[in-house]
Formats: sequence, C-alpha cells, structure tokens
Amino acid sequence: LLQRAESLCAAAHECARRGWVPATSGNFSFRSSVEDGGRIFITASGLDKGAISPGDLLEIDLSCRVLAGPGPLDNLDKVKPSAETKLHGVIYRDRPDARAIFHVHSIWNTLISDRFADDGAVVLEEYEMLKALSWVATHEHRELVTVLENSQDYAALSLLLTETLLENPTAHGVLLRRHGLYTWGESIAGARRHLEALEFLFEVESRRLGYES
Ligand SMILES: [Zn+2]
Repeated sequence: LLQRAESLCAAAHECARRGWVPATSGNFSFRSSVEDGGRIFITASGLDKGAISPGDLLEIDLSCRVLAGPGPLDNLDKVKPSAETKLHGVIYRDRPDARAIFHVHSIWNTLISDRFADDGAVVLEEYEMLKALSWVATHEHRELVTVLENSQDYAALSLLLTETLLENPTAHGVLLRRHGLYTWGESIAGARRHLEALEFLFEVESRRLGYES
C-alpha cells in the first residue's frame, strides 16, 4: 500500500509540475484490492498537490466515510475530504475495474469543456494518441468525453455522473464544464497514461480550433 501511495503522490507532483492542479485544486485517489479491504485512499482538501506525501492521504470506504487520515483518529472530524470525494466514490462503484482516479484543472480541459458543453461531449477521433487509452488499438477509434454542467451540488452531480458512466461504458474520462477532467485506470500507471493522453488531445484539439497557448 505504501508503494502505491508513493506512486500516487509522484503522479500528483508531476501534475503540479505541469500546471494541471494550480492553487490546491485537483484530487487523486487509488483503491486497494479486495484482499486489502477495497478501501479508497484520496488526497484531502486544500493541500498543495505538488508537496503531498503518503501521510496526507485519507482512507475512506465506498460511501466516502473517512476511516483514517493524517494525525490521531479523534482528529478525523477535522479532516475534510474534498467535496469531490463523492465523485471518486461514484466512479469506483460504477467502474469496478478502476483502481485509480485522477482529477485535474488544466487550462486546456477548462477551455475545451466550455467549447463543447452545448454539444454534450468532446469527440476525439483519428489521432494516434488514442491508442494510449486501454482497449483502443487503432487511431480510427472515436472517444466521446461527456461534458457535464459544473455544479456545487455534488449529490446532483453524482447522479449525472452515474448516468453518464452507464450510458458510456467504454469511456475513459468525463469533463465538468469550465472545471476539469476526471479520468481513471486499472492501475495508477494506467490512470496516469489516460490523463496524459487526454490532456494531450485536449490541447491539440483546442489549438486546432484556434485557441491561443
Ligand atoms: Zn475540481
């Protein structure tokens, strides 16, 4: 578990270095195997993702109850899981194969989510980089990244996310309008690969559409 916690933190540091989680935004989690309890380990709210270490992770169950965290157990009431922790819970529940989830607020995903919000999805097709996504074997793949309207009502957003995951069983990520990307994978390395591929494609599409860098 410690090794996985360390690779999650290393991935978060890399995202911070790339400017994808500014101002304490974003959150990162992995799920332990069933033998290890099937628990979720997730970054707590308000931390600089460029400086987190395994001790900063909260341990929660699938219904997002905090089971353990940094500091003594009687301190747990004061440890705030991020409001977006609920969305990680939804993805782990509806994507049983997911073992890691990354959520980032990048410039390119913010721009492109707004551009395609009215269409309901960003369509990515005919790109070699699509082959970085699990199960995709050809550039002729058509990847739909649904864009949900952003909201501070995370209970309502959770329901929308559930619908989206059911409607798009092969999707690798979901965007929130003018907010950010959620992507997941069967391992921390897999989620990281999906994140890098989708962010690359969002930047290519945005630049192609004439957004300035
Ligand atoms: Zn966010």
